[in-house]
Amino acid sequence: MKFQSTRGAAAPVSFDEALIGGLAPDGGLYVPTSWPRYAPADLDGRDSLVEIGARLIEPFAEGGALAAQIPDILSEAFNFPVPSVPIEVADPAERLEVLELFHGPTAAFKDFGARFLAASFARLRRPQERPLHILVATSGDTGGAVAAAFHRRPGFEVSVLFPKGLVSPTQERQLTCWGDNIHSYAVAGTFDDCQRMVKEVFLDRDLTTRLRLSSANSINLGRLLPQAVYYAATSIRRWRASGQPLSFIIPSGNLGNAVACVWARRMGMPIGEILLAHNANRTVPDLLETGVLEPRPSVATLASAMDVGNPSNLERLRDLHPELTALRGAVRAISVDDAAIRNRIIEGAARFGQVWCPHTAVAAEAWARLPQAERRDRNWCIVATASPAKFPEIVEPLLGRKVTVPPALAALFDRPSHVSALANGSDALREVLMAGAAEIGR
Ligand SMILES: *Cc1c(COP(=O)(O)O)cnc(C)c1O
Repeated sequence: MKFQSTRGAAAPVSFDEALIGGLAPDGGLYVPTSWPRYAPADLDGRDSLVEIGARLIEPFAEGGALAAQIPDILSEAFNFPVPSVPIEVADPAERLEVLELFHGPTAAFKDFGARFLAASFARLRRPQERPLHILVATSGDTGGAVAAAFHRRPGFEVSVLFPKGLVSPTQERQLTCWGDNIHSYAVAGTFDDCQRMVKEVFLDRDLTTRLRLSSANSINLGRLLPQAVYYAATSIRRWRASGQPLSFIIPSGNLGNAVACVWARRMGMPIGEILLAHNANRTVPDLLETGVLEPRPSVATLASAMDVGNPSNLERLRDLHPELTALRGAVRAISVDDAAIRNRIIEGAARFGQVWCPHTAVAAEAWARLPQAERRDRNWCIVATASPAKFPEIVEPLLGRKVTVPPALAALFDRPSHVSALANGSDALREVLMAGAAEIGR
């Protein structure tokens, strides 16, 4: 299958080319040119994430170098549990579950996309090639997941840029605990500055002819498409048990996770409503309400991985639903402030015995605000995007106790820190990339 740019001014490319390219040359995002369609019964006999995922993803990879390797890639990438836990609610007519996407090595759902991308890139690599240098600007979780996925992979160098002092202490440790082929830079600036530095370096012809560069943020199709797999598998499981579709509430920032769910439903998966749960960054809820897209600078919230004022994957959502009415039919959205996030974390523990990270609490709050009739009419699934153990500074004072740290996460914290300071501006980044290239060439 071929993939085309949302902006329509670039030639369609294969799956492999879309993965390596990241962004289309016209600045747009790659989307499929057609959609395979399935009835739930087409997946009969397939139970695991890997089996269901292979059926879903293989048509997209057809005709490319990865076509025959999708099952291998999926079993390498998705090698951790993905439970959907039923929640006992007071009203027996309501059915609620929580899909826990945080049991991977860095305890956030970013592991799915980052690990799929790394497993794919490793299989596309030719032996005598120069190393592929992957640049990531991160506001927290992405950098850790990408670093973990590429750590010690021969043929890959990764540079992670994060805003000095603006990520949580726990996140910072996760960004800097690697060494070897992972280079962590604390930039004297904001996340927007980090992102600008990476973009400018990509536009530097001189540098891109000397280095093979790629990017691993959520605009990359190879991060987004594999995320459709857990929505497919979870909704199919519910369908088999009840003959009913499952509706998802998704903590959203750049909308990568949300678009993956919309794509799974587009392929025929038994998914009902898709409710986008945003923090105080209201760009998407406002767009759906007023019909006007007004990107704005992000505001800092407790659910910091969702502090996005101009969601990049909105372009993919609007590509699928260009008319406002169709967009409103496809997704709903809600915005939740920090006070509600705090309350919901406390309530989650008190009422359901659940410890939620601030992002998951945004989705739980969105569920609680649904009219009771709607909570009864549908099967709802809250998507839990990160482990609360990544945000102890926020969660522990609210609950008045320690949060259990998963062993994989604890192991990362025991590693020594490797980090360099980097001045704000793309010249500083250019310099360290060239110095690194010279060293690898030696
Ligand atoms: C990245 C992230 C989100 C937002 O996901 P998008 O795909 O950008 O919408 C939500 N929660 C957590 C914990 C994240 O790391």
